[in-house]
Amino acid sequence: MKKKVTKIGVLTSGGDAPGMNAAVRAVVRTGIYHGLEVYGIMRGYNGMVDNDIFRMEGKSVANIIQRGGTILKTSRCKEFFTPEGRKKAYENLKKFGINGLVIIGGDGSFRGAQTFSNEYDIPCVGLPGTIDKDIAGTDFTIGFDTAVNTAVEAIDKIRDTADAHDRLFIIEVMGRDAGYIALHSGIATGAESVLIPERKTDIEAIIKQLAEKERRHKLVNLIVVAEGDNFGGANEVGKIITERLPMQDVRVCILGHIQRGGSPSCFDRLIASRMGYSAVECLLEGRHNVFVGIVNNRMHYTPLNEAVKKKQRINEEWMKIVKILAS
Ligand code: ADP
Repeated sequence: MKKKVTKIGVLTSGGDAPGMNAAVRAVVRTGIYHGLEVYGIMRGYNGMVDNDIFRMEGKSVANIIQRGGTILKTSRCKEFFTPEGRKKAYENLKKFGINGLVIIGGDGSFRGAQTFSNEYDIPCVGLPGTIDKDIAGTDFTIGFDTAVNTAVEAIDKIRDTADAHDRLFIIEVMGRDAGYIALHSGIATGAESVLIPERKTDIEAIIKQLAEKERRHKLVNLIVVAEGDNFGGANEVGKIITERLPMQDVRVCILGHIQRGGSPSCFDRLIASRMGYSAVECLLEGRHNVFVGIVNNRMHYTPLNEAVKKKQRINEEWMKIVKILAS
């Protein structure tokens, strides 16, 4: 029989994402609603290993729903990769009597949670907090919508100057392993091409397409590149296009960390609140070692070990849409 969960810890881990605070708030308030003791764990798994754990009340999460970043801080924790580090973490949790954990983070953080819950009798529930949306088992991750809207806003501004000067802008957005920010923002801003890590970049085809449009005097002004595209990112793409098409006035713009920050969008606050509420319900109902997602607007639960294995897949039709709409 599964033991009853009475004291829960919540932490944010890995890369930060806007909406993490809204998720923390939902976990804390739902926990308190159900009469649980709730503890905040600072700086991801580091707080578990170093015993940086504190009791949270309803008011601890006042006025944070609209704030980017995470009040619990986040980090990567080398020690948690080792059995000794995880043992220390377990002993610290035991000191507080914590017997359930909510982990808000990406697939790496879920891997950590999976390993930990295999070794120790502390059930874990994950919430997907990552701007990259690179976790299978959920249509959306907390932070993606905000990040992609930030990218769209920035690219729209760049489009104005691109248009005024008839320039070609190569814009790099975040996504080392996943092209969702590039694909969504590229379609939403009418980009000519979108280059993503999931597809091999065919630079010759892009040059051919640009040359053909040059002949037609079509004003081509935006290419969106995910930082992890296999050609080497926007700088490399910019370099070769400048060499091969000297008539084009090429500029490169790397959006960088502005995509991580800022006040979360309504959508991210909403899914963070629904997921945070659901995580606590999972712990109480004995649905353990899963992560909470949303599929077709319904809560969806995936075992942590499966979340770790599967990746979302890029829909081929979306790539076709980019091509057709840019012709
Ligand atoms: P994200 O959650 O954003 O994918 P990381 O991949 O950096 O971020 O993972 C966050 C943390 O999760 C790591 O620093 C480490 O503490 C923990 N972690 C990741 N993978 C494992 C693993 N296989 N075993 C134990 N801990 C892990």
